[in-house]
Amino acid sequence: MKRHIHSTTLLATIIALGLQTPAARAQEHGETPQASAATRTANTHVAERLPLADRGDFDAAERGLIARDPALVIKDSDGQPIWDMTAYDFIEGDAPATVNPSLWRQAKLNDLHGLYKVTDRVYQLRGYDLSNMSLIEGDSGWIVVDPLTTAETAAAAWQMAKAHIIGDKPIVAVIFTHSHIDHFGGIEGVLSPEQARRDNVRIIAPKGFMQESTSENLLAGPAMGRRATYMFGGALARDARGHVDSGLGKAPSKGHFSILAPTDTIDHTGQTLTVDGVDFDFQYTPESEAPAELTFYLPQFKAFCGAEIVSHTLHNVYTLRGAKVRDALKWSDYIDEALQRYGQRAEVVFNSHHWPVWGHDEIVDYLKVQRDTYKYIHDQTLRLANAGYTPREIAEQLTLPESLAKPFHNRGYYGTVSHDAKAVYQWYFGWFDGNPAHLNPLPPSESARKYVEFMGGTDAVVAKARQSFNAGDYRWTAEVLNHVVFAEPNNDAARQLLANTYDQLGYQAESGPWRDIYLTGAKELRDGAMGTSLDMSRGIGLLRQVPIARFFDAMAARLNGPEAAKGDLTINFDFTDLGQNHVLAIENGVLHHWQRPIADDANATVHLTHPALLALIGGKLSPKQLKVDGDRASLGRFFSLLQVPDRDFAIVTP
Ligand SMILES: [Zn+2]
Repeated sequence: MKRHIHSTTLLATIIALGLQTPAARAQEHGETPQASAATRTANTHVAERLPLADRGDFDAAERGLIARDPALVIKDSDGQPIWDMTAYDFIEGDAPATVNPSLWRQAKLNDLHGLYKVTDRVYQLRGYDLSNMSLIEGDSGWIVVDPLTTAETAAAAWQMAKAHIIGDKPIVAVIFTHSHIDHFGGIEGVLSPEQARRDNVRIIAPKGFMQESTSENLLAGPAMGRRATYMFGGALARDARGHVDSGLGKAPSKGHFSILAPTDTIDHTGQTLTVDGVDFDFQYTPESEAPAELTFYLPQFKAFCGAEIVSHTLHNVYTLRGAKVRDALKWSDYIDEALQRYGQRAEVVFNSHHWPVWGHDEIVDYLKVQRDTYKYIHDQTLRLANAGYTPREIAEQLTLPESLAKPFHNRGYYGTVSHDAKAVYQWYFGWFDGNPAHLNPLPPSESARKYVEFMGGTDAVVAKARQSFNAGDYRWTAEVLNHVVFAEPNNDAARQLLANTYDQLGYQAESGPWRDIYLTGAKELRDGAMGTSLDMSRGIGLLRQVPIARFFDAMAARLNGPEAAKGDLTINFDFTDLGQNHVLAIENGVLHHWQRPIADDANATVHLTHPALLALIGGKLSPKQLKVDGDRASLGRFFSLLQVPDRDFAIVTP
């Protein structure tokens, strides 16, 4: 029974929300191939085309350095490293043949960590997590902007700041720029809920922040968590044939995370606040990079914080771990709005990831290029779609004009033009491209068997695929061998050759996530599925804030429909500490829930507390320990109908 309630749904949700991935395991490199001749040529071509020797970004990324920990390793209370910048010490000099030189350059920039002065009274801690913590000095205390992903990394960053700039001044306010966990999860590393209450610390966040941060991705968490392992290369070694960078930063941090409810909500552009003598002019930018987001301008310091609507990478209109598609047009419009409102006045732009941009002309140019990229991808995708092209055709032919493709801050280190164009198509047209052959095709294994048979059988296909591999035609080789592996998952020759093919695709990728997805696919073809590591206790501070109804929504999405359809069932969940009851009813194989008085005709009534529900979900409490009125067997049936998500589900095999 415990097995069934142990909610990997939520645990994996934590992973998806928290971008958590398992600890890197030492990779067995015995069979990992070197870069092929074709890959060497492709990567050499990249190096020749781009001005990699340009030091502009390196100068900006090092500007204002106050202090740096020469060996930055952050450990949790068990002594386990949860952030280790020394793992990236191998990233130096020219790119090895196994890494795209442009990604290598970005990896070097993201390796630079420390405490930096941005401008008077504005500082940043960079390289302590995937994201940045920014600090603004008020008249009597400090305003913390985006306290990283986990308490451990936030505390370490704060210690660094304390040693050099903070002094004895307290935290007077916190700003959460948006609802993604890498911008709020570490709050308890700098400020406890008790301290926040006692000192009346202002918590400023965009409208919708709590709802989005606690509920976004809850339902789809397990699959997102599994896929996040691919996207962030959590199972890959940190070396020249493994993970080198995520494009947006090094990687997600591990550790404990929580949240604090806002005291001040930003719900419109032009809203102003004065916090401890610091004037803020906010821009409200929801439903773009995040469902709830804000940016702000500091007129006294001529500094614009672009949160994450701008960065030093082309961002994701679609996130490859799986996510709802984002609105590229709105996103572009917000950047334009920021440019119009603040562009003429700002002397520095600092963001939630990467290093700042200084100088009026540079800022105007930077914002224009970022703005126009999302709009170009948006408009041109629609132009091509309206000319009859379908997603793969559009992604193949859509390239940015030179003026947008060249600036490094705009290159596809995280998002790519290819998958962002497909995202725009999806935003308007959904999954169906209109071609009848794609309306109801056979499922992968079945079509794979037929493809392989039609192409002359396994051996013939593998032999031909080997020729394609030798010719460096990796995208085609992958497509063909994927059919063989799905037709014959135990065919070692096909698996090995497909793994080698993914390696080469990974070695050539400019995008960190593309590289990690290919290399993780290769690893799992060789070693089997790695799965996602789950530790519920890391996120208890966040889970406490999740509205109870959302847990029942997640339960409904785990209900085994065919089994549930065999008989209706009604259960009361009576929360004695909250004084509220939720009626859960299964009808027609569907789980409904309503907050309403106890249903007298229910099969059973569970009396529990909010913490008990969390313990139940975390597997720390068995349903057998619950206080129940009525038919206990019915409650047993209810829990048995909740399917445990598969943390290791197959991706590169059927
Ligand atoms: Zn972020």
